[in-house]
Amino acid sequence: AKEEGRDNYQFYSAEMTALAFERVVMESSLRQAIKNEEFVLYYQPQVNAKSSKMTGMEALIRWEHPRLGLMLPDKFIPLAEETGLIIGIDRWVMRTAMTQIKAWYSAGLNPGVLALNLSMRQLMDESFMEILHECLETIGFEPEWLELEVTESQMMKKPDDAIVRLEQIKAMGINIAIDDFGTGYSSLSYLKRLPVSKLKIDQAFIHGIPEDKGSAAIVKATIALARSLGLKLIAEGVENEVQKTFLVEHGCIIMQGYYYGRPMPAEQIEKKCFDIC
Ligand code: C2E
Ligand code: CA
Ligand code: CA
Ligand code: CA
Repeated sequence: AKEEGRDNYQFYSAEMTALAFERVVMESSLRQAIKNEEFVLYYQPQVNAKSSKMTGMEALIRWEHPRLGLMLPDKFIPLAEETGLIIGIDRWVMRTAMTQIKAWYSAGLNPGVLALNLSMRQLMDESFMEILHECLETIGFEPEWLELEVTESQMMKKPDDAIVRLEQIKAMGINIAIDDFGTGYSSLSYLKRLPVSKLKIDQAFIHGIPEDKGSAAIVKATIALARSLGLKLIAEGVENEVQKTFLVEHGCIIMQGYYYGRPMPAEQIEKKCFDIC
């Protein structure tokens, strides 16, 4: 039995070593990626379903890995968060997206509001406010063009600290949206205190409507909640006409999802969405 125990131990430890090794490799290639700017931003339109006009767009990061090809954020954002590398990545995201949107405004186009996904870790970093001010100033970016999306679960990790920082951001004239709303267990009392102006209904609930009674009930309750708290609303992950119709009928007009357009490179959204959407 003793022997067996040792073998098991060796087996697990070999596996752990492989995992740890993979992590170290990944972390160093992520560092490399920041240095070499191997990232690219895709933009997904946010649309008013009644007028079919684009109201803004969400910037979504991709990693153009030299060997592995285009990598989606779920593959590297979690590690970036754990290691703190997210700070450098999100800084690049802010600067790049704001520069692009500003260029469109300067060209006389109307890209609408830019929604950025910022990690709470970035928001709480001591240098964040300074970088935000610097970006607005050097780029010539109006604060009201910007909307920060923070997930409900990240906000609720340290809600009191989050409130202080979000108040500072709001005071600059920047809007804040709660991302993945409905998945993060925020209590109603916190919801009232959070300085946010918009709820983004999580796509998990949108995918279920209208057949799934639970999802339909949550979506309707969220719409009612937003209305009574005076918050704006957007639904994400809208993939078909049935979902769109359900949302419009229940009073959620702004939406985002494959039905209106997938995340796409800047040149493509400029061609496809600035006029049609
Ligand atoms: P998220 O903010 O909830 O973004 C929505 C995700 O849903 C995106 O995945 C988008 O491509 C996908 N999506 C949009 N419409 C549909 C649809 O109709 N159907 C389906 N099935 N999916 C749809 P993506 O681009 O892979 O991003 C995943 C997550 O990575 C994002 O979730 C966000 O939390 C994070 N992320 C993306 N870009 C950044 C960034 O620049 N910084 C940080 N910190 N996180 C980011
Ligand atoms: Ca988002
Ligand atoms: Ca989301
Ligand atoms: Ca999400």
